Amino acid sequence: MVIFKTAAQLQDFLSFRAITTPKIGFIPTMGALHSGHISLINAAKKDGMFTICSIFLNPTQFNDKKDYDKYPVSTDADIEMLLQAGCDVLFLPSVEEMYPGGTNTVASYDFGYLETILEGAQRPGHFKGVGQIVGRLLDIVQPGRLYIGQKDYQQCMIITKLKELLGLNDLSIIICPTSREQDGLAMSSRNRRLTDPQRALAGLLYQCLVSIQTKKDSGNFPIVQKECTDLLTAKGFATEYIALADANTLQLLDNYDPPRPMVALIAAKIGEIRLIDNILLQ
Ligand code: AMP
Repeated sequence: MVIFKTAAQLQDFLSFRAITTPKIGFIPTMGALHSGHISLINAAKKDGMFTICSIFLNPTQFNDKKDYDKYPVSTDADIEMLLQAGCDVLFLPSVEEMYPGGTNTVASYDFGYLETILEGAQRPGHFKGVGQIVGRLLDIVQPGRLYIGQKDYQQCMIITKLKELLGLNDLSIIICPTSREQDGLAMSSRNRRLTDPQRALAGLLYQCLVSIQTKKDSGNFPIVQKECTDLLTAKGFATEYIALADANTLQLLDNYDPPRPMVALIAAKIGEIRLIDNILLQ
C-alpha cells in the first residue's frame, strides 16, 4: 500500500501508473477504522477495483466542537488494517491540504429538503461539511466507483444528490450493508468511546429498529415509536428522533404505508456519545 499526503503526489502516481477513473474504487473515511470500513474496502477489492481509501477527520462536518476534539484517532492501527485488507492506496491529507484557502473557498452545495430533516435538523451545517469534503475528494481521486455505508442512510442520499449536482454521470455509488456487532449494534468509530455499561445498553437501538420493522404490516407506528422512546428513556438514553420515512425520498411518514419502501431511522445519545442507525423495512 502506498500512502500519499498531498493531492499532487496522489495524482502524479495515478497518472504515472495509468490508473484511470473506471478502475478506481474509492472509500472515504474519517479513520478509527473498524470492520464496517473494511467491508467497504473488501467490496471494492471484490469488484476488482484499484482501491483508494482516504482518512480525513473533516472539521467542517462537526457541528459540535467537543465531538470533533474527542473523535478517536488511531492512524497506525488503521494503516495496519488497510494493509491486511489489501488496500492499494491510502490518502492521508492534512486540513491545510484539503482546505488550502480556508473552508470558505471550497464549494458548498444546496441539498434542499434532504438537509433540513433528521441529521440535517439535529446537526446544523453537518451535510454542508460532508458535501464540501466529498466534493473535494471526488475531484482529487476521480473514482469510477464510490463505496459508502448504509449505516449513514441520509448521508448516502446526500452523496447521491451531490453526484447529481456535480453532473458525475459515470460515477457509480455502491451502498454497502451495515456491519454490526453480535448484539446488533452498528459498528461505529464512536463506539470506542462507550463505557462498558453504556456499551452493554447500546444494542437496544437496533432492537428498537427491529421491533419497528417487525410491526410494519400490522402495527401502528406512533405506538411503536412511543414504546421505543419510553424504553430508551428508561435505560438512560436521550432520544433525538425515531422516524419512519420513504426509503427513496426520505419523506417523513406518520404511519406505516406498505407496500411503499420504507426506512426507520434512529438517533439517540447515551452519555456524551451520539449513536445513529437505520433499517430498511422489507
Ligand atoms: P466514517 O469514517 O464514519 O466517516 O465512515 C466512512 C464510511 O464507512 C461511510 O461511508 C460510512 O457510512 C461507512 N461505515 C461506517 N460504519 C459502517 C458500518 N458499521 N457498516 C458499513 N459501513 C460503515
